[in-house]
Amino acid sequence: MTEPGRQRAETATPRTPEGSVEVDYVVAGLGALGSGAAWQLATRGHSVVGLEQFELGHSRGASHDTSRILRHSYHTPAYVRLTQEAYDDWARLEAESGETLVTVAGGLDLFPPDCAISPDDYVGSLRACGIAFEELDVGEIRQRWPQFHPPAGTLGLYQERGAIVPAARGTAAMQRLAAEAGATLVGSTSVTRVTDHGSHVVVEAGDTAYTCRGVVVAADAWTNQVLAGLGVEIPLTVTLEQPTYFQPADPAAYEDLPIWIWMDEPSYYGFPCYGEPTVKAAQDCGGPTVDPDDRTSEPDPEMRDRLAAFMGSLLPGSGDVVRSLRCQYTLTPDRDFVLAPVPGHGSVVVGLGSAHGFKFAPTFGRVLADLVTTGETTSDVSGFGFDRPGLTDPAYEANWMV
Ligand SMILES: Cc1cc2nc3c(=O)[nH]c(=O)nc-3n(C[C@H](O)[C@H](O)[C@H](O)COP(=O)(O)OP(=O)(O)OC[C@H]3O[C@@H](n4cnc5c(N)ncnc54)[C@H](O)[C@@H]3O)c2cc1C
Repeated sequence: MTEPGRQRAETATPRTPEGSVEVDYVVAGLGALGSGAAWQLATRGHSVVGLEQFELGHSRGASHDTSRILRHSYHTPAYVRLTQEAYDDWARLEAESGETLVTVAGGLDLFPPDCAISPDDYVGSLRACGIAFEELDVGEIRQRWPQFHPPAGTLGLYQERGAIVPAARGTAAMQRLAAEAGATLVGSTSVTRVTDHGSHVVVEAGDTAYTCRGVVVAADAWTNQVLAGLGVEIPLTVTLEQPTYFQPADPAAYEDLPIWIWMDEPSYYGFPCYGEPTVKAAQDCGGPTVDPDDRTSEPDPEMRDRLAAFMGSLLPGSGDVVRSLRCQYTLTPDRDFVLAPVPGHGSVVVGLGSAHGFKFAPTFGRVLADLVTTGETTSDVSGFGFDRPGLTDPAYEANWMV
C-alpha cells in the first residue's frame, strides 16, 4: 500500500489549537517491526500514524527481498520460548491476512568439528523447551540430502519446523492489516524529532507535529538519530550484507533441501527459493561497516566470490550466481534485541531486531504495542532492556555469533 493514509491524517484527525495533529500513538519506521506494531496498535482500536522516511516497501533497510528464516533452534531456552510465540503470531497473521506466509522446509544446523558456535547450547535449549529434533552424523546427512558435502565430523541438528517467511510480502501484509484497521501510514516522511513532555510525546515529521500518548521507534539502522535528544545512544554497528542467488543445473534436485545454517566463523546460511528455481545463500555478518545514509547498493564481487567458494565446497551442485543484492544488518554488541522503553521516557518504546528479528516481527509488533500502551507484556523480554552490559559497558566485546 502506498499513500492512501496521508489524506486521512490531514483531514480526519483532529488538530489542537497549536496546529499539531493529535493521535493516540505514532510509529517511527515502517519496516517489518514498525509495520507489526502499527498493525497491533490499530487492531486494538487506537488511532495510529506510522511514518516512514522512504517510500513504503523500499529496499534501503532490512525488510525487503524474498525471504527470512523462521526457526526454533536457538542458543538459549529464552530464545527458543520466544520462537514458540513467533510461530503462533505468524499463524495469527496468516489467519487475519488470509495469506500463506510460512513455508515449512525443515531446518538443518551444521556444526563442523571445533566450530565457533557450541552445539550443546542449541541441543540443551531445544530440550529444555520440549522441542523435538534429530542429531545426524555426516553419513546420515548425506543419506537424506546427498546435495550436502560437509566435512567429516560435522554434526547436523535437524528440526522439522524450520521455515521461511516472506520479507517484503510479510511486511506488506502487516501494513495492509494496519491500514484496514484504521492506521494512517505515511511514506517519504522522516521523523526529525521526538520530545517527551511527560503527559504526552511530540513527534515532528515534515511540517507536522504529532501529539501522542506514546511512540514506537522501529528505525533500526537510524534508531539513534530518532532518539537524539532523549539522552540515550545505543551502541549499534550497521553492516552491509549481501544475499546471493545461485542457479543449480538441476533445480529439482534442490527442491527438498532444508534451510541450513553453517554454525562456524565465518557463518553462512541458505535455502531453496520457493517460486523460482534458485538457491539463496549469504554469509552472516560478512559485510563491511557502513553509514546507512551513505552506502552503496551495488553488489561486492569479493563477497560474492567468497560465498561462491564456500557453496562450491558444501553444496557443489548449487550452480552459478544469478544475482546478488544488499541489505543492512543493525547489530547490538551482544546481538540481543532491544524491546523496551527508553530509560526515563516510558512513553518512547524502542524495537530493534539486531539482524535476526524478522522471524519475530509479528511477535515484536504485539510486544511493542503492549509496552507502549501499558508498559507491560506477557512475553519474556527481560533480556532486551537498556540496562544490560552489552549496551552499558563500553568495554563489552562484541559477539555476533548466535
Ligand atoms: C540479508 C539479511 C538476512 C536476514 N535474515 C534473517 C533471517 O533469516 N531471519 C530473521 O529473523 N531475520 C533476518 N534478518 C534480520 C531482519 O530482516 C531484520 O532484523 C528486520 O527486518 C528489521 O526490521 P526493522 O523494521 O527493524 O528494520 P527496517 O526494515 O530497516 O525498518 C526500519 C525503517 O525505519 C525507517 N526509518 C528510519 N529512520 C526514520 C525516520 N527518522 N523517520 C521515518 N522512518 C525512519 C527506515 O527507512 C526503515 O524503513 C536478515 C537481515 C538481512 C539484511
